[in-house]
Amino acid sequence: MAGWKKLAKSDLPAFLAELASQAELVVPQEKNGKTRFLPLDSARPISFPSSLVDVSLKSVFFPKRRPVARFGEKGDSPSEQRIECAAVQSPFSPRIVMGAHPCDVSAVNYVDRVFVHSAFKDPLYEAERNRTTIIGMACSEMKPECHCTDRDLSPDNERGMDAVFVEAGDGYLFRAVTDKGAAVLKSGLLKETSDEPAKRDWPRGKYPVSPESIVQSPSSSEADPFWQEVADLCLTCGACTFACPTCTCFLVSDERHDGAGERVTAWDSCQFSGYSRMSGGHNPRKTKSARVRNRMLDKFVYTVEKYGATSCVGCGRCAIICPVGRHFPREIAALSRGLSPLSSEENGDCTRSKRGLPPLSSDENGGCTRSPRTR
Ligand code: SF4
Ligand code: SF4
Repeated sequence: MAGWKKLAKSDLPAFLAELASQAELVVPQEKNGKTRFLPLDSARPISFPSSLVDVSLKSVFFPKRRPVARFGEKGDSPSEQRIECAAVQSPFSPRIVMGAHPCDVSAVNYVDRVFVHSAFKDPLYEAERNRTTIIGMACSEMKPECHCTDRDLSPDNERGMDAVFVEAGDGYLFRAVTDKGAAVLKSGLLKETSDEPAKRDWPRGKYPVSPESIVQSPSSSEADPFWQEVADLCLTCGACTFACPTCTCFLVSDERHDGAGERVTAWDSCQFSGYSRMSGGHNPRKTKSARVRNRMLDKFVYTVEKYGATSCVGCGRCAIICPVGRHFPREIAALSRGLSPLSSEENGDCTRSKRGLPPLSSDENGGCTRSPRTR
């Protein structure tokens, strides 16, 4: 693996300009008070947060709304008229994404399993991935809802990155991870250095989950009252699924604009009542409790069966965005431990005793309480 190189902070604007001259450059920028990954725009403040960009990297590769085909009438006379349809061409121009943290890069690797390495292949998504070089950024702190260390990751994990950088005093340390990454780190502004990022022992254990114990948990059964408890609180607004970097459900629809047609994909949510409704009206998940159960088990059980991996990277965005204070990471961790995720601090032991489990120590007991709103 290549060694570290150093960029002085004062040289960052020039370095970004060099990258932007080689490829379309996407970096975290502030828009309407949130940091999100956007094509470099000199009018917007650039921000490389110490951890967690507010809006995930998912939309760079899998946009909220995406035209996939266009169609319309062709031919001058009525006898010549016909409908022509053409697939949207895949993009090929090179692109560099800089500043994605380990959870977001790992989430994109998971989405690859769904759209590239599965029976269903999405050529537009695959082209977006192939044209992109990711210069990831190691986090220098874990924010209150971050729990990547409980999801087989860490704030300095480089998995899936082509190159990585980390803030270090008066500069940034960069290192290539792949040949693709080495090709974009050839700038003369990057100086050889013997400096290395300090190794850190990151905390873990906030919301640990064992997929096997979820399957075995008495609460995972459809009949358990836990699901109704959660459903009573949840608005099924879908905000958590849109904020989640690994949620990939989408709808396909045809739209008409000025006489021409467009087939588009748009993000959908398994929390919506119409999501699983079939032709003829049958809906296998028509109750809210069935839908919240499906999402929780999907992240840790069904995706393991389908794609060989859990689909939570521990970013905490679902808990941050929820308007009613539902805390998915805490709920799933409690479910994994055989607890009732919505029980209060006072009745946590009571719930365990109802299930025939031994009482908790006081610090464990907090693990099954709802958190205050974190927004
Ligand atoms: S954001 Fe909260 S209220 Fe909305 S669907 Fe998700 S858990 Fe339910
Ligand atoms: S389920 Fe929540 S914590 Fe896990 S990846 Fe999705 S948004 Fe992040």
